[in-house]
Amino acid sequence: MRRPTDNPTDGTIQRPVLDRLLRFDRSTEARYEAEHGRWRAAHLRHTIIFGVLLYVLHDISTYLLLPDHYWIIVLATLFVIVPCSLAVAHMMARVSAGPRELLATGAILTATALPIFMMYYSDAPHSTHMNTEVILCIVFANMVMALRFRHALVYSSLVLLWAASAVLMKQGVALELKIALCFQFTSVCLLTTYSNYVVERRRCRDYRTSLEAMMRAEMAETSEKQFQEMSKTDALTGLPNRRFLDERLGEWFTGDGSAAAVMMIDIDHFKLFNDTLGHPAGDECLKLIADAFRSAFSEPDAFCARFGGEEFILAIRETEEVHARHLANAVVRAIEALGIPHPGRSDGVEVVTVSVGVALNPLSGPVSQHEMLSQADEALYQAKRAGRNRFVMRNDVVDPRIAVSP
Ligand code: GH3
Ligand code: MG
Ligand code: MG
Repeated sequence: MRRPTDNPTDGTIQRPVLDRLLRFDRSTEARYEAEHGRWRAAHLRHTIIFGVLLYVLHDISTYLLLPDHYWIIVLATLFVIVPCSLAVAHMMARVSAGPRELLATGAILTATALPIFMMYYSDAPHSTHMNTEVILCIVFANMVMALRFRHALVYSSLVLLWAASAVLMKQGVALELKIALCFQFTSVCLLTTYSNYVVERRRCRDYRTSLEAMMRAEMAETSEKQFQEMSKTDALTGLPNRRFLDERLGEWFTGDGSAAAVMMIDIDHFKLFNDTLGHPAGDECLKLIADAFRSAFSEPDAFCARFGGEEFILAIRETEEVHARHLANAVVRAIEALGIPHPGRSDGVEVVTVSVGVALNPLSGPVSQHEMLSQADEALYQAKRAGRNRFVMRNDVVDPRIAVSP
């Protein structure tokens, strides 16, 4: 059987596979069962109970047709057919699709075997009229229970074989009548199996059409999500980009006054880095620094985004000044510790470093994201002026003579 129908990556959907016996591929079958299994189980349970009631009622007609062995039918009906069928009806919602369909098929096969056997076994003059009971069973199985087509095929073949054998082997029946009965059984098996096929095929095709529509909708939703994600990701570093940053900060600074820190991080003398080692090396350096941010600062309420060029933003929510200072210092130290050589620098530092400006919003009142960013930018400017490779907290008194932040 062919493989399932999950979304391929080339933007097209694969048709669910339906074979000649009206079986879907495994994953479609499982999906159908998950969506419709309960309904199918309820349908089988109700029709089996309904069928059992009719079956018991038919004991009256059996009594009129087969007075000689009536008791066999009554005993078999009451002690085999009824309890077994009710047990099967009870099991319908409690087993998976495969056993459920097999049990239902087994139950109706047993119920059909009894009138076939009695038609053969009884010597009563009207015993061949039991053919009607057999025909009713066949109609019930293929059209009312609507056995799955492959089961209907097996059921009809077996019943036809048994019924034709019973009629042909029966003593004391005219050959013309035997032939006529065989024709009847053959016709009813063919007609009802064909009808079963047509109905089942319609069901499968309708489901396939609705599934394809659903898959298309799911795929469109996935593409939309991917597109949304891509549009918020910086292509070079894989970090969230400016668009994401604006959105997230917009959500954070809605005016509830909860504490948040915004840090603007800028690589020191990066132009010199590019000029000395080339632009591609500059790109690699940006990637290394982004990776360091990603792995080092993964607090649940924090994120790091590329603000643009060689500038990044680290934002953290529900934080206090002490924690913000600690984090800003950790950023400066972590980048320095990467030890990326910066041969172009003339300030005595030989590795790539960053400067950080920190803005902490006041709890006293709401502040806009733009205010936070411009405060962080001002603090960054002070960090640069104070000698780089350090952080400055907005409103800190900065002494440029101190070379490195604490
Ligand atoms: P400062 O310490 O004052 O920040 O000096 P700076 O040289 O880092 O600052 P400046 O603004 O003069 O230069 C920033 C440089 O960053 C210039 C630009 O070529 C480089 N840059 C910006 N975006 C990229 C990028 O995507 N890749 C590379 N390789 N370089 C970039
Ligand atoms: Mg800059
Ligand atoms: Mg810079």
